[in-house]
Amino acid sequence: MAAPLPSERVCAASSPPFSKTMSTMPHPANIAGAVLRIDLEALIANYRAVEQRAGTAQVAAVVKADAYGLGARTVAPALEQAGCREFFVAHLSEAMELQGALTPQSAIYILNGLPADCEELAHGIGAIPVLNALEQVDRWNALGERLGTRLPAALQFDTGMARLGLSECDVAELIAAPSRMDAIDLRLLMSHLACADNPHSEVNEAQAALFRRHADHFPDVRRSLDNSGGACLDRDHFHLVRAGISLYGGACQDEAPVAMRPVISLEAAIVQVRDVPAGAGIGYGLTCVSDRPRRIATISVGYADGWPRCLGNRGSAFISGQRVPIAGRVSMDSITLDVTDVSRERAGPGCLVELLGHNQSLDDVAADAGTIAYEILTQLGRRYARTYAGGMADQATATFCQECLA
Ligand SMILES: *Cc1c(COP(=O)(O)O)cnc(C)c1O
Repeated sequence: MAAPLPSERVCAASSPPFSKTMSTMPHPANIAGAVLRIDLEALIANYRAVEQRAGTAQVAAVVKADAYGLGARTVAPALEQAGCREFFVAHLSEAMELQGALTPQSAIYILNGLPADCEELAHGIGAIPVLNALEQVDRWNALGERLGTRLPAALQFDTGMARLGLSECDVAELIAAPSRMDAIDLRLLMSHLACADNPHSEVNEAQAALFRRHADHFPDVRRSLDNSGGACLDRDHFHLVRAGISLYGGACQDEAPVAMRPVISLEAAIVQVRDVPAGAGIGYGLTCVSDRPRRIATISVGYADGWPRCLGNRGSAFISGQRVPIAGRVSMDSITLDVTDVSRERAGPGCLVELLGHNQSLDDVAADAGTIAYEILTQLGRRYARTYAGGMADQATATFCQECLA
């Protein structure tokens, strides 16, 4: 690795007013409710794993939606240090937010295209629009002609997803009038797969064939079709893979997922514990009624932190590897857990509860919630104390306070 990764540091929303005379330092989970740990070493290991899969293709990082919620301004530079030189965001505003975080050697593409009247702004920040419509081609070309230069762009074809990109007719129209791109420096041809998460889908090969057919009209321009799932398909991967979820530790395909290293862990502190008798109702709506005497622990994480409300009476957390089910509904700021079967020492106020980690993966939580890892990641709350680390030491949280205060 070229340069050392940033050492562990806390990025709680606001730093508490530390004083040298303060006798005890609160654990960050006590201040913020929970600690979200983001392991940049695992991120880079996953980047290398995608590089392996990609064969001769290069690997770009998709860092839209704040790098799937993990912090684009930290994640993107870490990947750049690991050799990544191409980055994809969805919106122009996201490219603006990355300003200054990357070196000028890196390219930032805007997946969702070139919005009206945004040509000069996009050009001003050096972003590369993915041109998704002929009208966008014309506006970008017009700016290039006005400036007397050729402006870099990617061109997207819709090969069967009906979302973004030129249709077959558009492509025919464009190749019949190549001067429409006289002032465009075409850097990349791309399309996106609708069913990459299913390696058995015939759609994958049909889309790849149509992509090749369109791309053949633009010889010598690099090609990019595959996302994380596409990179797992058993064929070549053109010139560039656009990887998102694999980098962040999510499985890229529905079945037989190739395990990526987990990048995040989430631990919450218990804020209160109570013993309830048989027949007691728990949480909003009293949807959980205790069938026997139970011990209930409350943690300061809720749906306002992106923990899915549908996990009420369904989801789990873990204490020292032992499953503790969610009892009752998920509230905005808290969750009640049934800790009856855990020893009192391990389930008292201040004890840590694992929501994401060795016992419960991102994909486990997504499956319980009937959604996908992408949604769990991108909904992760802003209230957590965030810590970026180079490694995922098991005892990290235990040594956290000493480390961050040293
Ligand atoms: C989000 C996105 C990706 C990344 O997809 P993953 O499945 O997360 O790897 C790639 N390409 C396009 C066009 C996207 O919108």
